[in-house]
Amino acid sequence: MERTFAIIKPDAVTAARAGAILSRIEQAGFRVVAMRLQHLTRAQAEGFYAVHAARPFFSSLTDFMSSGPCVLLALEAPDAIKRWRALMGATDPAKADAGTLRKDFGQSIEFNATHGSDAPETAAFELGYFFRGLELR
Ligand code: ATP
Ligand code: MG
Repeated sequence: MERTFAIIKPDAVTAARAGAILSRIEQAGFRVVAMRLQHLTRAQAEGFYAVHAARPFFSSLTDFMSSGPCVLLALEAPDAIKRWRALMGATDPAKADAGTLRKDFGQSIEFNATHGSDAPETAAFELGYFFRGLELR
């Protein structure tokens, strides 16, 4: 079993698609280990995406991620990190495969509905950034 960290981003929550995305998560066989609705502050979004601080889209991205509530999730499954990224699809919804979440719910390379950790070390950092040990049972 492996755990990953996922976000249903503010574009999808504001568009009332969080339930539909959660349903797809459950249908795909992930166990929801922890879940919280949270409107991130700008500083929290900046801390989360600190690896992208030098990118030209950093300011816009952290604006977006603090623009409304997110659904924060800890997901568990065999090979969860890879499988969640596969279910999300490519970063740019226009390039995402049919049947992926970003294809079905994303609007643009920035407003792309979901986030997923990209490696075990990232998942460990991201799970710990948002959840306390007691919540991850
Ligand atoms: P995430 O980390 O959110 O799961 P990702 O790993 O597929 O997405 P990253 O390269 O880590 O992609 O980019 C982080 C986020 O920054 C993207 O999900 C998207 O919201 C935004 N982003 C990425 N590239 C661009 C871009 N060229 N212009 C605007 N926003 C971008
Ligand atoms: Mg990423």
